[in-house]
Amino acid sequence: MIRKLLTTHIDHPECHTLKHYLSVGGYESSKKALNSLTPEQIINDVKTSGLRGRGGAGFPTGNKWSFIPKTDKPKYLICNADEGEPGTFKDRLLIEKLPHMLIEGMVIAAKAIDCHQGYIYIRGEFNKGIDVVETAVNEAYAAGLLGKNIQGSGHDFELAIYSGAGAYICGEESALINSLEGRRGHPRLKPPFPAVSGLYSCPTVVNNVETFCNVPHIIRMTGEEYKKIGTEKSPGTRLFAVSGHVKKPGIYEVEMGTPMKELIYDICGGMKNDKNLKAVIPGGSSAPILTAEEAMTATMDYESIASLKSMLGSGAVIIMSEEADLVETTYRLAEFYSHESCGQCTPCREGTHWVKDILHKIKVGEGTEKDVELIYSLSRNMEGGTTICPLADACVMAVRPTMQKFKEEFARRLQPVDKPTEPKKEVANVG
Ligand code: SF4
Repeated sequence: MIRKLLTTHIDHPECHTLKHYLSVGGYESSKKALNSLTPEQIINDVKTSGLRGRGGAGFPTGNKWSFIPKTDKPKYLICNADEGEPGTFKDRLLIEKLPHMLIEGMVIAAKAIDCHQGYIYIRGEFNKGIDVVETAVNEAYAAGLLGKNIQGSGHDFELAIYSGAGAYICGEESALINSLEGRRGHPRLKPPFPAVSGLYSCPTVVNNVETFCNVPHIIRMTGEEYKKIGTEKSPGTRLFAVSGHVKKPGIYEVEMGTPMKELIYDICGGMKNDKNLKAVIPGGSSAPILTAEEAMTATMDYESIASLKSMLGSGAVIIMSEEADLVETTYRLAEFYSHESCGQCTPCREGTHWVKDILHKIKVGEGTEKDVELIYSLSRNMEGGTTICPLADACVMAVRPTMQKFKEEFARRLQPVDKPTEPKKEVANVG
């Protein structure tokens, strides 16, 4: 069901301003955290809340913060606002409408990990979002909500904005860190993980926009109360960016555990032109596709979607009706991954291109059963840790389950039998 926790005031025309944010209790949580709570208490509250990362992997946020070692080295905090997963557009809404909620969440996180410098790494195409966040950061500095001695607490936290240059791979945290350092946005080998050696080789936490936006609410209502929303293992609400063949696509904040059926048929108004549901990609393009039957049994939480061998991922729900061409869709996704591969690892650099080219052959009716087998064979070499980052795995997850679950649709595009090959001509040795 719809449950507005983050988006309660989002329809107010001034919700992006400091004045409005303060009028609805904004920055009270940061005041509480900075002046009355210890770093350990903040981390424990976030751990108790059960908040899990809203960017993709769903890692418990409090645990991530607790991995930061207590050293004299500087610690860095980064907001990953490089939202680029196909189908995903929910962070853009938060950035443009609720920038102060994001800043407040970062201030609280900074206190928790003893950090004095943060960055918002924002997708370069978000022109409006960059303007809105810059204005909000300036407003916060002017009001003593950022900078030195925030809200009289003695805690200093500087926040800078960095605009990305349009590479999808910079949404991967170590590539993002390289980009922020002024290097090419290539993912790094791990370990070491950013919590130990991240930005400038110092301990670093990278969290998603929506993750930070949850933090002020946890501090305001306590982790115990927050945990009562949603399901036991997936507490809280989640913003879903619903696109595709529904009557009312858009961004909806719902309680975790909401049935997918309710999301599609009640909240989004049902299928466009009253067609039948064919498939759902539940968490961004790298989340394995669900059949209509699977989708009708699913609930919108990490465990339910994982039990169907897919993932909640980036919160992008792509709905496809019986009219959708899944061969075309799969080809387009493979094309995206081949374009975005950074090229460091052979299985990814070569594999994504091969998969894309073979899918094109199938799409135009020139593929054979051998081509299908070749994609399966390639995909086995692209997954399971053969590469530096999960982009190659993401390509496999976007392609293989669709080919397996909608086998007939692919089979209809194949040539019935392999074309007889021309016998090799003997070449006379004239040397
Ligand atoms: Fe680059 Fe692909 Fe290797 Fe990731 S898996 S590091 S995108 S080549």
